[in-house]
Amino acid sequence: MKINSPRGTADLYGEDIDYRNFVIDTARRVFKVFNYKEIITPAFEYTWVFSRSIGEVTDIVQKEMYTFQDKKGRSLTLRPEGTASIARAVIENKMLFENLPLKVFYIGNMFRYERPQKGRMREFWQLGVESIGTDDPLIDAEVIWILNSFFEKLGFKKLVLKINSIGCSECREKFLFEFRKYLKPEVGKLCADCQKRFGKNALRIFDCKKSGCRSVLKKAPSIFSYLCPGCRKNFEEVLKYLEALDINYRIDQSLVRGFDYYTRTIFEIISEDLKSAQNALGGGGRYDNLLKQLGGPDLPATGFAVGIDRTIMLMKQLNLKIKKNEEKARIYLIAMDKNCKLYSLDILRYLREEKFLCDINFNKRSLKKEIKWAGENDYDFILIIGEDEIKNGSITIKDIKKYRQYQVNWENEKEKIKKIIGA
Ligand code: AMP
Repeated sequence: MKINSPRGTADLYGEDIDYRNFVIDTARRVFKVFNYKEIITPAFEYTWVFSRSIGEVTDIVQKEMYTFQDKKGRSLTLRPEGTASIARAVIENKMLFENLPLKVFYIGNMFRYERPQKGRMREFWQLGVESIGTDDPLIDAEVIWILNSFFEKLGFKKLVLKINSIGCSECREKFLFEFRKYLKPEVGKLCADCQKRFGKNALRIFDCKKSGCRSVLKKAPSIFSYLCPGCRKNFEEVLKYLEALDINYRIDQSLVRGFDYYTRTIFEIISEDLKSAQNALGGGGRYDNLLKQLGGPDLPATGFAVGIDRTIMLMKQLNLKIKKNEEKARIYLIAMDKNCKLYSLDILRYLREEKFLCDINFNKRSLKKEIKWAGENDYDFILIIGEDEIKNGSITIKDIKKYRQYQVNWENEKEKIKKIIGA
């Protein structure tokens, strides 16, 4: 039997875990200074949470959700994104009554039944922020500012922020009327999916990557020209804040994003270094009607989500290094026999309490091989405990990086030991 994980999933280990921790630690640090607090929601929800939020005629709801019935026949879905669950959670837990906006962030695995390829998985990880309770354009700018700071802290230099406004429901209605009028004679040139979208949710046609649909869209009216004065002013103010923050943006009037809950300002961060269609690292926008739609208070909101896996993929491709925090020395203790292991426990306990990364030999290898192995595995010091060391109450310390060796007394020379290994 071939042993493999389900298609579109991956095991993370080794270097990938170091990258992942670096990305998540950086995010936590950035989110904290902007005063965002963590929220954890379940990995699955009742299906209606997503179908009502993301939109019945979106690709995600129609084709990509992992939906199943539990033993009592309730329809559940593995979360395909974070925002809908958070909207549900903040309503349910009555978190929206004072001191708005409520600022939260999340880190979690998401599930979409997509065609797996490089940078596109069926289980993937996202981190994101949501700010709920104000439509002040400063909060849109702040959310983009966080996104920008986060990628800067990871070491990225050349990312592009695409931004657009898709207006409120009123401007959208006017736009859709004109857009449908434009499309009507062209419907036959659209792909089968877009022909369905034409009737049910024409805005989604902008999401289509197929060349036939793309060329029909070339001369289409843009929603941007239909923005009502309120939405236009709001968007202009967001841009003014971004300019004051020196955040480079590019207005992209074809940007609509894949969820129906978006309103007004939406954005996406892409890398021009990622040549594939999977070049978006993250995106987000305002969702002023979602809370009400889910049965909560009528409060505007905005947020973004970043793909962790794709961010790591690009970091590796660009050779961006993980900045390790000041780490203490790594120590490998070689105990020559069982008795030596017993004697070593006290030493290991002391070093681990002092927060050194320590390990002891479990393999049956010769001393020479153990020393070679430790050198190849990035240890800084080797401690050797043999019969002689037990007899003298001592430890042999080898500084692998500086090619030095010391003999110290374990009981009486702790200060000297600390000095050698840099405590
Ligand atoms: P979205 O929730 O679709 O706005 O996606 C936000 C970000 O999540 C994207 O820009 C990607 O970086 C990441 N992402 C979305 N779908 C996938 C996927 N299937 N596999 C890996 N990353 C994904």
